Amino acid sequence: MRYDAVVVGAGFAGMYMLHKLRGLGLSVRVFETGDGVGGTWYWNRYPGARCDVESMEYSYSFDEELQQEWEWTQRYPSQPEILRYANHVADRFDLRRDIQFETRVTGAGYDETANLWRVRTDRGEHEARYLITAVGCLSAARIPDFPGVGAFRGPSYHTGRWPHEGVDFAGQRVAVIGTGSSGIQAIPVIAAQAEHVTVFQRTANYSLPAWNRPMEPEYAQWVKANYPEIRTTMRTSVNGVMSTFNETSALEVTEEDRRREFETRWAKGGASFLGAYGDIAINPDANELTAEFVRAKIRETVTDPRVAELLAPKDHPIGTKRICIDTDYYATYNRPNVTLVDVRAAPIEEITASGVRTADAEYTADMIVYATGYDAMTGPLLGIDITGKGGLSLRRKWEAGPRTYLGLMTAGFPNMFTITGPGSPSVLSNMIVSIEQHVDWIAGCLERLRADGVATIDADPAAEDAWVEHVNEVAGRTLYMRANSWYLGANIPGKPRVFMPYVGGVGAYRSRCDQITADGYPGFVLS
Ligand code: FAD
Repeated sequence: MRYDAVVVGAGFAGMYMLHKLRGLGLSVRVFETGDGVGGTWYWNRYPGARCDVESMEYSYSFDEELQQEWEWTQRYPSQPEILRYANHVADRFDLRRDIQFETRVTGAGYDETANLWRVRTDRGEHEARYLITAVGCLSAARIPDFPGVGAFRGPSYHTGRWPHEGVDFAGQRVAVIGTGSSGIQAIPVIAAQAEHVTVFQRTANYSLPAWNRPMEPEYAQWVKANYPEIRTTMRTSVNGVMSTFNETSALEVTEEDRRREFETRWAKGGASFLGAYGDIAINPDANELTAEFVRAKIRETVTDPRVAELLAPKDHPIGTKRICIDTDYYATYNRPNVTLVDVRAAPIEEITASGVRTADAEYTADMIVYATGYDAMTGPLLGIDITGKGGLSLRRKWEAGPRTYLGLMTAGFPNMFTITGPGSPSVLSNMIVSIEQHVDWIAGCLERLRADGVATIDADPAAEDAWVEHVNEVAGRTLYMRANSWYLGANIPGKPRVFMPYVGGVGAYRSRCDQITADGYPGFVLS
């Protein structure tokens, strides 16, 4: 079939892109591997899965009636609630009729002569003028290739591919591998049900309390009444959220003031803790003061000092790996049915038929939960065999790391757009804000091309080089480069170490994109 646009993925990015393109009168087909909408929130059904951005902020802003009618029930929305919201949006805008579910896009090649994308799926081929990837930054779930992964006799699950029918942990000895965001959310809930949980930790991560609670109706009403200003604040902020970011240096204030500020933000809960001072992300001393405050909280909470020390992160600055937001994570280690295993000291050597064997012991388990994360940002894109002009393969082009102009296009792949692609704020922000900004920009661009009779748009290689350099340069001014994070591809053996998201901030990035539109698309080649 032939369409004006093919969109890959039906998470929040693909859903809104479809709605926008329909509004332009374009014919659109969305392909989605899963059998429903929601992306991340469709796949990640693990116990405790929850958004780290407050629900009044983690929601679409493009439709006034939608944002007024939807009622969130909790301060931080749980996965089931976000999935209900995604389905509500799909119903409300009648999106499903243009989405083909249970269909994976396997390849896409640009046909220069016809100026068309030829899109291959596991169910047939299609053609489109525009190819828009909405594949997500965290959708390529990854299990490390431990020897013996297939040998385990019991069931094993990846948090990002959780069975729809759920998992009953009662009476089970559960091995949980991984203590990133997903592990930190899942472990307390699993521990409350299972007979025993053995947690395998390679890297201790900083986690801040969510203090999640039911939504206060007065608060929801206040936000709804003030959405126009609130959404503007979010769009022009650093991370796409409403919370206040203090510009002062942590080193300029007295110890007493600093403690008060940290305590206040800790008591409020959530990631706004990292906005306590303006130099936490850039100054090692300011960062260390912040990190030490969190370590002290861990030591206060965890009764066994040996376990507390293992849980207190010391090998990377706070905020340089994705910050975690939890409910009772550290206190869970005070339970008699939870054991922490340090696999930095004694690495996992093998998954056996009956459990997990590390360099110094074997741990028996009835089930294994892999909370081992994703091949982030580039994984989902490079999972598709994409070829551009002259048969240039995206995999080949990005061999040494992703190269994009603004995270929106990559030179040599005309009429292909990447929503929240590498080189844009994406995973460093409230992603719905970044998604809406990209979708609006792309739709505005296509409208303009049509009005001006322009058939193709591509990134100019020189502009792309300059943007890649800028992305690296800004990241280089921060402490982000000091952590072995998935932002840098460090969780995947052999993946190039390139800092992928843009740390320049959501507001500054938006202004730049808007200016480029206003100036007639400098840095893009239109023909
Ligand atoms: P996704 O939701 O990932 O959707 C992409 C879709 O594309 C998927 O459904 C996938 O199946 C499909 N797809 C991929 N490749 C193909 C293919 N080749 N063919 C067909 N379909 C394909 N963000 C925040 O802002 N705050 C948070 O607190 C937060 N918490 C998160 C917690 C977890 C556990 C995870 C995994 C992510 C979290 N995120 C969070 C990021 C989250 O991914 C985004 O907020 C948002 O949901 C991304 O939407 P998306 O549409 O861009 O991508």
